[in-house]
Amino acid sequence: MKVLSKAKLEAALNKLSDRNEVFVPMQKGQQSGYFTWKSFENGQDELMLDALNVYQSPKNAVLPQTEKMYSIKSQGVEVNIDQTYEDAHPTIIFGARGCDVKGIIAMDDVFLTRGYEDSFYKARRSGNTIIANACYEPGANCFCNAMEVNSLEPVGADVILRDAGDGYVWEVKSDKGEAVTALIADLLEEKEAKLPEVKPFIQKVDYSGVAEKLKSMFDHPLWDKLSQPCINCGMCTYVCPSCYCFDIQVKMWGEEGYRFRAWDSCMFEEYSREAGGGNPRGASKERFRQRFLHKLEFFKERYGTPLCTGCGRCIIVCPTDINIVRIIDAVKEAEINA
Ligand code: SF4
Ligand code: SF4
Repeated sequence: MKVLSKAKLEAALNKLSDRNEVFVPMQKGQQSGYFTWKSFENGQDELMLDALNVYQSPKNAVLPQTEKMYSIKSQGVEVNIDQTYEDAHPTIIFGARGCDVKGIIAMDDVFLTRGYEDSFYKARRSGNTIIANACYEPGANCFCNAMEVNSLEPVGADVILRDAGDGYVWEVKSDKGEAVTALIADLLEEKEAKLPEVKPFIQKVDYSGVAEKLKSMFDHPLWDKLSQPCINCGMCTYVCPSCYCFDIQVKMWGEEGYRFRAWDSCMFEEYSREAGGGNPRGASKERFRQRFLHKLEFFKERYGTPLCTGCGRCIIVCPTDINIVRIIDAVKEAEINA
């Protein structure tokens, strides 16, 4: 098997960064997320490949938090596109866990299938390679196994790393994976390595039948109780590896300007407000229900898999202790004719 010694990890990241923008999990000051390897400052930043999940997921690499789309020029009532910014520069997400890989595969479903293609997302994904990091020891808030994620064999990864103590077993899974492997071929060794023992999930979650049951629970009183503590801060959606809602805005200086998109959140009142002033999800409960129905029911109906990948981030960040696992439990226990 191919093995990348941990002693050669920095050399490998340097080499990969010669031709790619490489995003790695890092603690950078107060922030933890995926940052470019070139921004890594020795002695100040910390590489977090051993952490199960950094605070921010790697979705920023394929769906940036803000993304310039077009520059525009107006002449009278006419507005013309001056330039389109579809960005296919080569990027690598290095060390993504299975839950985060599944988040990107879910966004592929949304932005690239069912007869609709988002050209901006398509360009970024075309240049993007995913090097996943298999999980052998789930954390206290992990439940990806219940949400159709295989943390040992993440579907959609181009390379899978397996931590074997003093090195990473390097498993190529696709042509894109072959291409990045060729860049560091001289750093990989052919040798045997012992893989870690697979530890059980601490959190037990049973999602079976939840999507189906939710079909008849839109008006169920449980949403009043469950949504009561939610302050609609949107933190859960920003850290989520599979939340992809965005808003498009225009910035103009006189007759020139540009359009850009930025992450938005279904938890915000403005998100669903219509031009005429009406809002189908004006109440906090309605937005809360939308988030959980989208994660657990609607996406499964449309794409055959839940939109929650079981990463546990929203459980950790929620300031009012709302826990998607407890919501799954509450749905399982609810009486339908209550
Ligand atoms: S993080 Fe918690 S309080 Fe904030 S919007 Fe999400 S569920 Fe509501
Ligand atoms: S809903 Fe929560 S647990 Fe599920 S993928 Fe998003 S952040 Fe992770």
